[in-house]
Amino acid sequence: MFWRKSSSSTSVPESDIKIHPSVDRGVQAGKSNFAGGTLHCRCATNRVEVTVTANTAHNHVCGCTKCWKPQGALFSMVAVVPRDNLKVTANGQKLQVVDPSAVIQRHACRDCGTHMYGRIENTGHPFYGLDFIHTELSDQEGWSEPKFAAFVSSIIESGAKPEQMPAVRTRLKQLGLEPYDCLSPELMDAIAAHTAKSKAMQAA
Ligand SMILES: [Zn+2]
Ligand SMILES: [Zn+2]
Repeated sequence: MFWRKSSSSTSVPESDIKIHPSVDRGVQAGKSNFAGGTLHCRCATNRVEVTVTANTAHNHVCGCTKCWKPQGALFSMVAVVPRDNLKVTANGQKLQVVDPSAVIQRHACRDCGTHMYGRIENTGHPFYGLDFIHTELSDQEGWSEPKFAAFVSSIIESGAKPEQMPAVRTRLKQLGLEPYDCLSPELMDAIAAHTAKSKAMQAA
């Protein structure tokens, strides 16, 4: 809304619906000049460390069943960075791929289960070159804030009640996270454009 000041945070009273701990008290805006930081797994010692030398893009909350989420949260929070800007910098020997058959190879700590990054190895995939990360694993502030909610209906697959969904969607809108049952229109368009381009290349 144009009359609302673009302040650094949108203060929204906490509701009974726990979307994700990073947004439940309102979405905190990121810093445009933020250049990255470190992510740590949740082990008490010998933490896996991932260093990211870029700010994130396309941050969003995701209701799919594959993204890692904190206990009690209905959604995960996930964003992308160029894969060249991501390095495992400590205890990488503790990482293992959760599901080798999945498109996104999620590298998780085998001790605490935290997903440290997701990587696409298929060079033909529209999102090839981007790694998926959870910025709540970083102590630094300034990562880009989530802007929408993806795969909202999928939370039913993880146990949410269908009759709970109107309240969940209302809460997401209240937080400024437009709910979609797939990805955002911007990302769906990017995928379709990629598909159209590969088809044109095959036909040529
Ligand atoms: Zn761990
Ligand atoms: Zn997801």
